[in-house]
Amino acid sequence: MKIMSINAGSSSLKFSLFDMDTNKVMVSGLFERIGIDGSCYTFKNSEFKIKQEAPLKDHADAVKILLEKLVELKIINSLDEIDGIGHRIVHGSDVYTKSVVIDDKVLEDVVKFSDLAPLHNPANVIGIKAFKEVLPNVPMVGVFDTAFHQTMPKENYLYAVPYSWYEKYGVRKYGFHGTSHCYINKKISEVLGRDDLKVISCHLGQGGSIAAIDSGKCIDTTMGFTPLAGIVMGTRSGDVDPSIIPYVMEKEDLEVSEVLTALNKKSGLLGISEVSNDSRDIEEAIKEGNEKALLAQKMFVNSVVKYIAQYYVELGGCDVITFTAGIGENSITTRQQIIEKLSCLGIKLDVEANNVRGEVKCLSSKDSSCLVYLVPTDEELMIAMDTLALIK
Ligand code: AMP
Repeated sequence: MKIMSINAGSSSLKFSLFDMDTNKVMVSGLFERIGIDGSCYTFKNSEFKIKQEAPLKDHADAVKILLEKLVELKIINSLDEIDGIGHRIVHGSDVYTKSVVIDDKVLEDVVKFSDLAPLHNPANVIGIKAFKEVLPNVPMVGVFDTAFHQTMPKENYLYAVPYSWYEKYGVRKYGFHGTSHCYINKKISEVLGRDDLKVISCHLGQGGSIAAIDSGKCIDTTMGFTPLAGIVMGTRSGDVDPSIIPYVMEKEDLEVSEVLTALNKKSGLLGISEVSNDSRDIEEAIKEGNEKALLAQKMFVNSVVKYIAQYYVELGGCDVITFTAGIGENSITTRQQIIEKLSCLGIKLDVEANNVRGEVKCLSSKDSSCLVYLVPTDEELMIAMDTLALIK
């Protein structure tokens, strides 16, 4: 069976077509700058890579080209070969606790939850509608970033604010990156042949979050009501005292939206280092003796370590700490700095084994109190697997 995995953003559309008999990507790619000058698309697989400029006035244009190209490039012979389409949906509120087949009610709900994810859900809806128009008979599945975290107990997902805010407006921790944490838990459970693991899953990319997972169930996570909370990220601040917001508004004569933009887009590694949001640039700048880059790296590592320590206690111990996403999969130095700070818990790195990128591998030494693993994430495959399971 062939399943398409779709991640629609406000001006982009990412796709992967999977052959589910082998779990292999037949082709993947990206439509960029949709509705903006200079729009283009990329198609690639192990044999070729095409990058082409093309006018894309909306997502429907992107979907039309995507489907035409699949046949033109002979990836498939006809569109009938596409058995299902899985859509990443950022916010499913506390209503969607797992993936679902998309019908009119689901679509209505995703629109309704735009209130909670104003930048993401509307783009996801546009993607779903664009495919529905061209392939009305192909089943579509919604895979929610928030769903995996819906097993958190109430004492972990509530904020200690007036309870009526939760009742009236849904103010609570939702958590994000759920598709990735779910995939990682599935993969490490397979690798270790156990489904009763206590896992601390560190998704460290441009955005970052950590999840505490007990026997497959998320019990806590670092992102909150929005993805702004938790660890230090590329451009997001992570946790801050909310009183900073009115204070800075007054000092700099800013609107609340401007301060929120600064916390989302100008903070984190970028805000502190004043160099870059990319950890590769931070690592380079540190080598050149840049003090602020070093400070940013230390703050990043500390924020991760603090949450790992918290979750270690919350879980009552830990069987395995996993690293994934851009930084987690590639930054040998960052992994080493994090694990070294956990030595008081008896967690020890095998420095030689840690000299690796992008493959499933045990990184802990034999005498470590808990395993440490590198597990590359694959959110697209997870979306395709959920889609296949639901349409079968
Ligand atoms: P993601 O959001 O998962 O795509 O992660 C993107 C981030 O991963 C980039 O912004 C970089 O900070 C980081 N990254 C990617 N490759 C490397 C690398 N080789 N070394 C250090 N960091 C990397």
